[in-house]
Amino acid sequence: MVTEQTQPEVNIGLVGHVDHGKTTLVQALSGDWTDQHSEEMKRGISIRLGYADATLRRCPDCAEPECYTVEETCPEHDVDTEILRTVSFVDAPGHETLMATMLSGASIMDGAVLVVSATEDVPQAQTEEHLMALDIIGIENIVIAQNKVDLVDDERARENYEQIKAFVEGTVAEDAPIVPVSAQQGVNVDLVISALEEHIPTPERDESLSARMYTARSFDINRPGTKAKDLLGGVIGGSLAQGTLEVDDEIELRPGREVEEGGSSEYHSIETSVRSLQAGGQSQETVGPGGLLGVGTGLDPSLTKGDALAGQVAGEPGTLPPTRNAFEMEVELLDRVVGEGAVEEISTGEPLMLTVGTATTVGAVTSARTGECEVNLKRPVCAEEGAKIAINRRMGARWRLIGVGTLTE
Ligand code: GDP
Ligand code: MG
Repeated sequence: MVTEQTQPEVNIGLVGHVDHGKTTLVQALSGDWTDQHSEEMKRGISIRLGYADATLRRCPDCAEPECYTVEETCPEHDVDTEILRTVSFVDAPGHETLMATMLSGASIMDGAVLVVSATEDVPQAQTEEHLMALDIIGIENIVIAQNKVDLVDDERARENYEQIKAFVEGTVAEDAPIVPVSAQQGVNVDLVISALEEHIPTPERDESLSARMYTARSFDINRPGTKAKDLLGGVIGGSLAQGTLEVDDEIELRPGREVEEGGSSEYHSIETSVRSLQAGGQSQETVGPGGLLGVGTGLDPSLTKGDALAGQVAGEPGTLPPTRNAFEMEVELLDRVVGEGAVEEISTGEPLMLTVGTATTVGAVTSARTGECEVNLKRPVCAEEGAKIAINRRMGARWRLIGVGTLTE
């Protein structure tokens, strides 16, 4: 069924501890289950960033906040509801080893819903880690969903609310509304929509700038066994930070792909054209900045298979930031890492996992001074001066967020 909606104009991340109800809340808001991939279904966690769009609506005849809904017809008044806007939800994984995926999602989030289960003490490890990530990446528009209130009594709900309040004090989420909700039972979903409308506004964007799309995923949409002549080109998914894209536009992707030449390898940018555009569950002729979109390209689908082009930047040929094999950055370290204690200075020679835009790469530190360092990258990134970089250090078996960098050169 094709339902009436507009192009998504804002990306809202769902973050928080595993099993606290992020995916269930997205489902309550969009009717889409973001865990679409069979492997993810099996493991029961969202391994890759899930996509789901929701058109937020209001009933002209209901009072606030009951008027907020995702239904096209108000069950109370039997009238058509009015479209407020369409939003894209980025359902980040709560599993702790998948911090990199969460961070690359954060780079395309305009705001976030921090989902906190009322059934557990606050904060759980990833509740804290994800809030730190929002803080460090500078995502300030936050709504807190106090979920699973159907499972607790009033006293426990109040106690949990106070714990949340105390936990966010002094953080970027200090003034975020805390909305009690049962995602599973669909209780207070109207209050969540109302909070999204108020606290996560659609950012002002410049459509007159040249297109810049951050790729979060890439796919081969052909069924196995499709004949070569019937193959559809590779698809990239992500978000436009500025500008517009139109069908038939030429685009360049950086860093592009690795090319072996005379024993060494380097990255060459890829050029192709836009064959189709998908946004808000529909084909579009042109798309603007905002929500998540899919771009059908003329690329050989083997190039886009299995997220092979995730982390690339796409735009009009010749307009993209440079591809860098190394860079310098100013560094601001966290005081401590959740569960690990104080953060030590970065040292020369140590490997770091760096998230730049939607790209994740490992870099070796070639020079470290207090407050700045230089890194040599295993895989290059396309990034401009001033880009924010999430810095992760290997601690035990995991990469842990230790700070934020700003690319200087
Ligand atoms: P995620 O890991 O944060 O995405 O969590 P899920 O959305 O996968 O939810 C984890 C489990 O909690 C699932 O079994 C859900 O059915 C359940 N759940 C989610 N929200 C609620 C809720 O509001 N009430 C109850 N009782 N269960 C919930
Ligand atoms: Mg989930």
